[in-house]
Amino acid sequence: MALIVQKYGGTSVGTPERIHAVAEKVIRYRQQGHQLVVVVSAMSGETDRLLTLASSMTERPAPRELDVLLATGEQATIALLSMALQAQGCPARSYTGAQVHILTDGAHNKARIKEIDGARVNADLAAGRVVVVAGFQGVDESGNITTLGRGGSDTTAVALAAALKADECQIFTDVDGVYTTDPRVVPEARRLERITFEEMLEMASLGSKVLQIRAVEFAGKYNVPLRVLSSFESGDGTLITYEDEGMEQALISGIAFNRDEAKLTVVGVPDQPGVAHLILGPIARANIEVDMIIQNVAPDGQTTDFTFTLHRNDYQRALEILQEVAGELGARQVSGDTKIAKISLVGVGMRSHAGIASTMFEALAKEGINIKMISTSEIKVSVVVDEKYLELGVRALHEAFQLSQAATA
Ligand code: ADP
Ligand code: ASP
Ligand code: MG
Repeated sequence: MALIVQKYGGTSVGTPERIHAVAEKVIRYRQQGHQLVVVVSAMSGETDRLLTLASSMTERPAPRELDVLLATGEQATIALLSMALQAQGCPARSYTGAQVHILTDGAHNKARIKEIDGARVNADLAAGRVVVVAGFQGVDESGNITTLGRGGSDTTAVALAAALKADECQIFTDVDGVYTTDPRVVPEARRLERITFEEMLEMASLGSKVLQIRAVEFAGKYNVPLRVLSSFESGDGTLITYEDEGMEQALISGIAFNRDEAKLTVVGVPDQPGVAHLILGPIARANIEVDMIIQNVAPDGQTTDFTFTLHRNDYQRALEILQEVAGELGARQVSGDTKIAKISLVGVGMRSHAGIASTMFEALAKEGINIKMISTSEIKVSVVVDEKYLELGVRALHEAFQLSQAATA
């Protein structure tokens, strides 16, 4: 008998029929003798609907109130799934995040889980019940409802699996595993049998939204066996695991991309010590995260252009801040671009192989795609390109690195 934490995403619980189907699936696992904790998302589209409702009240909803509203999405699904389970004769109980003490910090809309008290869940499991927990939500020390950021139900599931020392955490979704890239963009993308935590973490942070970044971090830190599977088809899905001898020795495991980026350039700043600090200090104080940074000295040797990328949602605010400090900096102008996208190659195999970046640049050049920025680390190469070339670029790279074919060890 194993203790399994399962998570079903929005599409998997998107209609009453699908909730019934999830109930049947849960019951089948239970009949095999397993104990089950089931985490669910809001029905597909519901979180977006609630966000639109909030913005019809005010342009900037108070983060605390937004969390009270958003948490209702998952609260509806836990009750519905528990009813469906009970209707089929399976004892079940639903709980909100607060009821099972998913304690978070107070950062509304992007809270982090600090602690989970598994006592209540364990008591229900011991009594033979399936425990249904609302994903994406928790409670802070003062009793305020918090949410964990988009895609946060993945993190609830992994954190619960860690706290309960579950044997496996299974993420059921609308694809049957983690692919070499988003199969919606490249139909030839290939499902990976396994991927390392390290690679999955890079893929998630570079834009592959199949798993929330925090979920992968948690799973790696607490060594939670994590698997991504389809809600609709049977199969083994993808296991996220530590690197081992038996793994495919692929150079590149996958291609991630992100359309949510924007870029800002401060043009013609005097080339003096402290410039980077003067530009990025006010940005950091406004709690805006910066991703890639490039600074280059102009041919005159006197001035420098300073460019960085950031989340598109933060673009307007960052632009206003920079326009304010531009005078103080003696900069010529501030310019920006919101129509960019980032494409990244990820693979632990890169560590021991040279030439990956040049193959990447060659493949993009052949398609006439201009690279605006480049950044590399041990296991990834990222480029920024015009948004309109995103899909073409991803397809060209998938082809150039022959990712639809399994690697030979
Ligand atoms: P859920 O609502 O179940 O949490 P998500 O929409 O958050 O589902 O995540 C699943 C989606 O992630 C897939 O439908 C797919 O389009 C997308 N995706 C992006 N990159 C990948 C990838 N490398 N492998 C598989 N799916 C990916
Ligand atoms: N319902 C939330 C969202 O849409 C959380 C989740 O689905 O994981 O982002
Ligand atoms: Mg998701």
